[in-house]
Amino acid sequence: EKERLEAVKFEKAITKDNHQVEIACNIGNIEDLKLGLANGAEGVGLFRTEFLYMENNHFPTEEEQFSVYKKAVELLEDKPLIIRTLDIGGDKSLSYFKFPEEENPFLGWRALRICFDMLDVFKTQLKAILRASAFGKVRILLPMVISVEEIKKVREILEEVKNDLKAKEIDFDTNIEIGIMVETPASVIVAEDLIKYVDYFSIGTNDLTQYVLAVDRGNEKISKLYNTYNPAVLRSIKKVIDAAHKADKWAGMCGGFAGDTKATKLLLGMGLDEFSAPAANIPKIKDIIINTTLEEASEFSEEILKLETTTEIEEVINNQ
Ligand code: PEP
Ligand code: MG
Repeated sequence: EKERLEAVKFEKAITKDNHQVEIACNIGNIEDLKLGLANGAEGVGLFRTEFLYMENNHFPTEEEQFSVYKKAVELLEDKPLIIRTLDIGGDKSLSYFKFPEEENPFLGWRALRICFDMLDVFKTQLKAILRASAFGKVRILLPMVISVEEIKKVREILEEVKNDLKAKEIDFDTNIEIGIMVETPASVIVAEDLIKYVDYFSIGTNDLTQYVLAVDRGNEKISKLYNTYNPAVLRSIKKVIDAAHKADKWAGMCGGFAGDTKATKLLLGMGLDEFSAPAANIPKIKDIIINTTLEEASEFSEEILKLETTTEIEEVINNQ
């Protein structure tokens, strides 16, 4: 099998009935990107920028961020780079900034909510991302979205930042695409509305599983309940993909489930357009896709989506 995976890793992910999907990688830094490219990644589906903030002793400056994003864009040549804006809070803290004590950090001051309250920090990041967009294909990804208002607000802020750059005659991609992570129940429920305001969706199954099931993703005691194969989570994923397609847009996935090779056929059949996975799993995902048909995968996913229990679903998954 090792040889077979070696042979497919730089192939395109096209099914036997000619349906192509994109296989990208998740990265936290430039080293991850190099590993992703060496394993056949066709782009970056999620750049978790928190690491720039966490491995520092101050909020990274525009220049510091720009140089990292630019480096990534250059390594990717024309392949897309999806940069997620700061997703701090929850379980992620900073040594140089004191977060308030919270009863429920995962339901608290995190991600976009922090960015809206610390506009300088947010604008600095948006500027760095925009400047990098002059050098390749860069897309913006917003974490933890729950409403249309949030997207509208980001668009207003982005407009201000773009005007600043224009005034200084600094180049950027004026049509930079914006997408959102779908990782809250609210965003699944109003997905048909949200998609009107963005260019694409990226499903964050790590948080989506936690929030749909009300099961803390880090709590050992209930880790058995934390399962993305739960029908409530799978049907949420399906609803999100369908909402994107109805609007002629695309849906990707950057949560851990996209890298679960037992889920590849299921996700392909559900219509997922882009899989963003850890580098090591990319060859296997491509191999599965290349050796099946969309038709077969669709039938497989339809069968699974009808099942009522996680146990039955896992049985079908394990016997595929
Ligand atoms: C997710 O929630 O699925 C995700 C990709 O983001 P993170 O794991 O960084 O919260
Ligand atoms: Mg998340």
